[in-house]
Amino acid sequence: MDKATDVLKAIHADRLEIGLGALNASDSPGTAFGTCWRWHRDGHGVEWWLLDMPDVSANLVNEKMLAELGQLIARATGDRPRGIVIRSSKRNGFIAGADLNQFRGVTDAGKVTAKLAEAHSITDRLEALKIPTIAVIHGFCLGGGLEIALACHTRIALANASFGFPEVQLGLHPGLDGTARLTRLIDPLDAMTMMLTGRRKFAKAAYAAGLVDLVTQERHVAAAVGAVVAGKLPSRRRANRAALVNFAPIRLAMAPVMRKRTAERVRPEHYPAPFALIELWRKYGGSPVEMRRRELESFGRLVTGETTQNLIRIFFLREAMKSMERKADPVRHVHVVGAGTMGADIAAWCALKGLTVTLADMKPEALAKAAERAGKLFGKETHSSIERRDAADRLTADLRGAGVGKADLIIEAVPENLELKQKIHAGLEVHMKPGAVLATNTSSIRLEEIGKALKSPENLVGIHFFNPVAKMQLVEVIRHDAAAPKAVAAAARFVVDIDRLPAQVHSAPGFLVNRALMPYLLEALLLLDEKIPPETIDAAAEAFGMPMGPIELADEVGLDICLDVARMLKQSLSQPFPDLPAWFEHKVKSGELGRKSGKGFYRYVDGKARKSASSPAPDPALADRLILPLLNACAACLTEKVAADTNVVDGALIFGAGFAPFRGGPMHYAKRRGHAEIKATLERLAGQYGPRFRPDPYWDGSPAS
Ligand code: NAD
Repeated sequence: MDKATDVLKAIHADRLEIGLGALNASDSPGTAFGTCWRWHRDGHGVEWWLLDMPDVSANLVNEKMLAELGQLIARATGDRPRGIVIRSSKRNGFIAGADLNQFRGVTDAGKVTAKLAEAHSITDRLEALKIPTIAVIHGFCLGGGLEIALACHTRIALANASFGFPEVQLGLHPGLDGTARLTRLIDPLDAMTMMLTGRRKFAKAAYAAGLVDLVTQERHVAAAVGAVVAGKLPSRRRANRAALVNFAPIRLAMAPVMRKRTAERVRPEHYPAPFALIELWRKYGGSPVEMRRRELESFGRLVTGETTQNLIRIFFLREAMKSMERKADPVRHVHVVGAGTMGADIAAWCALKGLTVTLADMKPEALAKAAERAGKLFGKETHSSIERRDAADRLTADLRGAGVGKADLIIEAVPENLELKQKIHAGLEVHMKPGAVLATNTSSIRLEEIGKALKSPENLVGIHFFNPVAKMQLVEVIRHDAAAPKAVAAAARFVVDIDRLPAQVHSAPGFLVNRALMPYLLEALLLLDEKIPPETIDAAAEAFGMPMGPIELADEVGLDICLDVARMLKQSLSQPFPDLPAWFEHKVKSGELGRKSGKGFYRYVDGKARKSASSPAPDPALADRLILPLLNACAACLTEKVAADTNVVDGALIFGAGFAPFRGGPMHYAKRRGHAEIKATLERLAGQYGPRFRPDPYWDGSPAS
């Protein structure tokens, strides 16, 4: 950052000379322009265009704001200010990306392309202005927002700014000329990596890459703008490097490398966008005009495709899961009982997210281990030593359970044993404060059973975290008939407040995710019995789009845990459930528990599964044997009202079990495929392999049949 410091010093020296004084645009209300913008002209002839979209917390790119930007540009062309600054008035950042509502349900690629061409003409006019244009960026500057910033001549970032193209996560690539502009501004290999991975660059890295021309602090912004207008800030544009790497032979040599690396992560038939982007650059990277034309066409194709439409659907599903009404009071103090695998991580996560946490265990050594694990988490997830210290200060080891009477929420995470849990809950109930919520993290015991030990079972709910807590976004919030709606609402709000996604389900064996996942995992074991190699079984599920096959997933979850849950489901469900192979129980007894013990179905070296490369490719019909039991269990959960609707099921299985996101969730997939067809296939499989495939009545009565 030495150069930046020099530039800043120079700016300071220039401050009086150019006489900008202490201008701070964000303090000025300016004059409204349309519905999305405000503007004002400062005493030095510089116009400040402030984006402040109504009724939203973050600015987004949509037709209206672009049309108004077009009008601002037209006006400036006549008025000729000395410079133009584009800034956001929102606290959280510049622009968060495109408004996805405009792409929801689109089917006509030609129409999308035509609309985008209009948008391109606006950013082109911005870029072509003869007046210096400066984007001043704080917070996030993503997707379409970054494309607007790229159309400005200069970019000034505040230290908290971050830049990225997350489109690939929605099955897209940039569509507002970002592909051509970024590959001409910075090293094209760096640009392609940003677009292919969706990874963000923070201000410092963006400056190093040449994406921004200066990183400064708020109090220096006015002076920095003055320096740009006076032509005193050198551009960081990497034009020579860009021209060299965009040269055809280099593109032709690098594109296959990019394709290979991308194919290691995703398949083109599931996620076409990154491959389309590589092709775009390989073919047209030498000509910005051609690249932007092709970008439009490619974007139109992708956005109307099934993958993107499903990923957009999931984006809104996630928003819906997060945006529950916040009727309940927030939890400020959580007391966790049991500092084992789950309790320790739940406690650490809550402390990281700002709650006061007391963590109890009967064994001091468990508390010591938990503190060590929490330290590692804080080290990974915080940005400064102060944040780390604060998180650690919020977490207190509590051997005597002093936190019980102070906590708003108590989460029990002791071993899966009904008597033990009943005893602990009954003890907690006596000491907890009035109005507090008592929760269990049980993965298989019905809440009604635990509630039998309580005087006030209405305060009891399930808050079922998945392992590992820091990675798994979903948390099942479980209600039972006696639970008070207030307690359930408080639990759901707590889950959202700690940045996880709640799926509200009714108490039932295995709740929703384990109930749906277990038939899929068990079918994989039965396939092993048929001498199909584990690699072939996993490959069948991965070809369907699962991020990990069922055999590897079972190893990951732990074979002992799989066995417990499977036994419990077999005992409690009325539907036919597969018999567990005897060898599976022996395997668990002999200590082969999966990844955690170094050996399960696979052997693990440095935490990675050793797989044979010579296993035969899966028969395409294999996927149905695995996936249909999962769909059938989801259907049963709907029939039995464990989940209220298909959105709950889709959200839970995507965020809790990694169900192929580009398929939009299991029930969405079933709807697309047709319920009648699903039912017929299940009947055929039941004829071949037994009653465990018997179709649930859900497939008869639902609208998509
Ligand atoms: P664990 O065995 O790792 O930890 C349990 C902890 O509870 C131990 O530290 C133990 O010392 C402590 N404990 C036992 N009796 C106690 C008592 N009377 N008072 C205070 N502490 C006591 O168990 P875990 O894997 O963390 O599972 C805890 C709960 O979470 C279980 O109900 C389990 O079903 C559920 N769960 C586990 C997973 C998983 O993957 N491990 C996932 C989801 C839910």
